[in-house]
Parts: sequence; C-alpha cells; structure tokens
Amino acid sequence: MAAAQTVGQGVNLVLVTGASGFIAAHVTQQLLRAGYRVRGTVRSLQNKDKVAPLRNLCPDAEHELELVEADLLKPDTWKTALEGCTHVIHVASPFPLAIPNDENEVIKPAVEGTTSVLKACREVGTVKRVVLTSSVFAISGEFGQNPNHIYNENDWTDTSLPSVDAYAKSKTLAEKAAWEFVNNLPEGQKFELAVINPGFVMGPILSGSFCTSIEILKTLLLKEMPAVPGVNISCVDVRDVAAAHIMAMTSSEAAGNRHVLVAGNLWMKDIAVFLQKEFKSQGYNPPTLTFPKFGLRILSLFDSKVKIMLPAIGKVTRFDNTRMTQILQIQPRKLEDTVVEMGYSTIEGGFVKKTAKYRGPKK
Ligand code: NDP
Repeated sequence: MAAAQTVGQGVNLVLVTGASGFIAAHVTQQLLRAGYRVRGTVRSLQNKDKVAPLRNLCPDAEHELELVEADLLKPDTWKTALEGCTHVIHVASPFPLAIPNDENEVIKPAVEGTTSVLKACREVGTVKRVVLTSSVFAISGEFGQNPNHIYNENDWTDTSLPSVDAYAKSKTLAEKAAWEFVNNLPEGQKFELAVINPGFVMGPILSGSFCTSIEILKTLLLKEMPAVPGVNISCVDVRDVAAAHIMAMTSSEAAGNRHVLVAGNLWMKDIAVFLQKEFKSQGYNPPTLTFPKFGLRILSLFDSKVKIMLPAIGKVTRFDNTRMTQILQIQPRKLEDTVVEMGYSTIEGGFVKKTAKYRGPKK
C-alpha cells in the first residue's frame, strides 16, 4: 500500500462506493483533483463500459485511482475494499427508472448494503467518518404532502404511508439504519456520519453508464412524449452535489448532520423550455406543452415511467437549503446552465444521437 498522504483533516484514503455511477464519478473526480488518495468500488472490473471512463477522470492526478470489486448484496466484499480507509463516501444504491414489481429489489440492496458497509467500517477500525448519499425523498417522500411547509433536515418521510414508493422507502430506511448503527457504536469503535440529501441531480455526465437522471433529458430531447407531465422537481447540479460530499467529509460542523441539497424548483416544462432554447436550432424538438392529468393517467397504465410520476402531478414540495449554503458553503449553480450542459453531455456521451444540424457545446 502507498505511503500515507494527508490532503485535509487527517484524510488518508477515501473509499467511494459505486464509483462508476453518475454522482459518484463526479465525487471521485473532485477528490482526485484535490489530491486525495481514492479507492473506488465497482460491481465488476470486467465491465469495460463502466471502468474505462473512471480511468480517465483525472489523468494528472497525484495518486492513481484504485479500483476494487464490491457488491451491496455481498456483505463479505466490503472489508477488503475498506482496508486502510480513513473516510468513506457511500453513494452506491439502486436508483431505478421505474417502480419495480417487488419493492425489495430496491430496498434490500439499499438497506442491507448500507449496513454491510458500516459493519465493515467498524471491523477495519481505521474509518473516521462516513458520508452517506441519501435523498430529499428521505425527508419528504410523499409529493406535496404539505404544500405550505418548507421541508428541512428535521423532517422524515413516513414510510408507512401507502403513497410513499419503493425508492423513497429505500432511501429513508437506509438512512435511518445508518443513523441507528452509528449512534449505537460502542466506545472505542465510534466513527462519524454525515448525510447528504440531494434533490433531483442533473449536469455533465462523466460515467459511461445510463442512469435515471439521463433518462429524463433523453426523453425530452428525443420527444419520446408529445407533452411533458406537470411535475415540479427540486433540482441541483451534480458538481455541487460532489463538492458537498467532500465538504461533508472534512467539515467539523457536518458530522452528525443531514444536509438538504437543492438549488431550486423547476417544472418539467421549464427544463423542456431550456432545452428547446438551446437545441431547437440543432435539430432537436423537446415538447413544451403540458399533459392534461387525465391523459397521463391513461398513459400510466402502459408506461411504468409515467406511473412513477403520477402522484407528483401539480404538486410542489419546497426545501430549505441553508445548511448547503452556510455549512457546506456551496453556492448553487444556475439551473438553466446545468440543464443545457447535461443536454450536451447526453448527446456527446452517445445517449442521444447527433443530428445533422448538431453544432456541439460552445468552446
Ligand atoms: P446511478 O444509477 O448512476 O448510480 C447508482 C450506483 O449504485 C451505481 O454505481 C451502481 O453500480 C450502484 N449500485 C446499485 N446497485 C448496486 C449493488 N447491488 N452493489 C453495488 N453497487 C450498486 O445513479 P446516481 O449516481 O444518480 O445515484 C447515486 C446515489 O445518489 C444513489 O444513492 C441515489 O439514490 C442517490 N440520489 C440520486 C439522485 C439523482 O437525481 N440522480 C437524487 C438523490 C439521491 P453499477 O454501476 O454497477 O450499476
């Protein structure tokens, strides 16, 4: 193992779980750029599509990225992955495109995976702090439940409500399991936990794999729906989310706390209009009309991606981002830029075909 390096606050080696994911790839890149030693986990080192982009995240990095295999559903894989780590950024968790028939497909890896990672942290004994990627869905998992309330870190999703879907349950139960585990650690085995609760994450794509965040942009750019659902989304830029994870790893005020990450609220139509403004002249034609609710109900019978949005139609949930701006010191980027950059990245990454009129991003 390489000699110890300390970039900040006793950080020697950082484990990023699910390094090839949309968010985790940015976390990994920012850590490498800042000079940290980083070990990333992937499910399979043989998966070239996922591994190759990770090798190019930061060609000038002082420390080469280490990659190891680990799986949320294989508890035995985590102890080796964690050997020598002082800090862990646990991002890996299923983020499905559609509601699964069996909710345990999402809940089991989220909850058991988080617990396995934390147990392994206790066993290796070198970990000082774990940063967990939770979600605003662990704060308010039921759309527009209380439109007059500004949700903050004191709020928790009530998983017993029938309208809370499998994904929101997975994030809430995994986060609760993490707090319970860490709060009950015996003296001498204690380590800290800081939690990041992002809204819907958008922005440039570094990873080679498709994910739920890309799906929405692809659907709009390719006009896979004639109109957009009347859904309001609390959004945030992926680069701000990555920076927040790193601040949460080092800031003394972040330990023992949750942090809402939201830059602002956008209707799906706003996202479509941003894309239309930038990409219409380049041969794309995102829909900017809003679907009537009745039409969506019918569509949801055939399309599970629509079904997942149905409870959210017309409802606005607002979040207080004070801890993001004041404790983690993240000033959110302008969401229009985030959307446009993600649009280009979706095309450049090959997730949407280039048209004959495509000019590419401004240099
Ligand atoms: P991705 O789908 O890109 O990333 C999910 C990651 O989890 C992938 O690296 C995936 O690995 C990994 N993973 C899934 N199942 C397993 C498993 N059984 N064992 C090991 N790894 C597994 O999505 P995002 O980057 O968007 O999401 C990352 C995290 O951020 C998730 O915890 C998600 O809940 C959370 N989040 C995301 C938001 C968003 O809008 N994108 C908003 C709020 C929270 P593999 O590549 O092998 O599939």
